[in-house]
Amino acid sequence: MSRPILFDMDGVLLEGPGTDPQVYTDAADTALADLEADPTPAQRADLRRNDLENVREHCEALDIDPARFWKLKERYASRGTHERLRTGERGLYDDIDAIADLAERTTTGLVTNNRHETAAFVADFVGIDFDVVRGRDPTFEGFRRRKPEPDYIEDALDELGVSEGLYVGDSRKDVTAGRAAGLETAFLRRSHNRDLDRPAEATLELESLAALSDVV
Ligand SMILES: [Mg+2]
Repeated sequence: MSRPILFDMDGVLLEGPGTDPQVYTDAADTALADLEADPTPAQRADLRRNDLENVREHCEALDIDPARFWKLKERYASRGTHERLRTGERGLYDDIDAIADLAERTTTGLVTNNRHETAAFVADFVGIDFDVVRGRDPTFEGFRRRKPEPDYIEDALDELGVSEGLYVGDSRKDVTAGRAAGLETAFLRRSHNRDLDRPAEATLELESLAALSDVV
């Protein structure tokens, strides 16, 4: 099998560095309504954010199962994100055609801190035939395994049965996680990370995904 190239998702395929906080606000409110919970405004504000300790504490105070609330919130956040992509409210970068071309001739993967359900949706939505897709599980443990932890990259490498390759991302934690998983890393420049110093450990710096065809 050829040396795989794994890609981060937010800020690499999807425009902008991450999920709009409004998606989590709406997701938390819908989950709370489903569970017929009646939080104080302060509790609601905390439950809208992804702070595990606060979520656990407030759910217990409200007598709802924290794991169940979290799973529902993750599901609704995925639905909200998918709707934004379908309507074009959140766009795709123009240069992702380069990934589609690479996927025709080498092993590729999508590995993201975002929810697995959304990663699977995006792979289908962009029509790229990734060999492996890995996002976070809708559990507290799944949230803790996010980059800069190498866990999800390692899961993807295990699934592919390989131990080397290149991880392409737009943030420092991508470089940290990629290196910790034993990969070379490419730091991708986008408008939102222009002012960031190139992470010292990054093997490559890319101005565009199109430049990847020269290094593969
Ligand atoms: Mg990113």
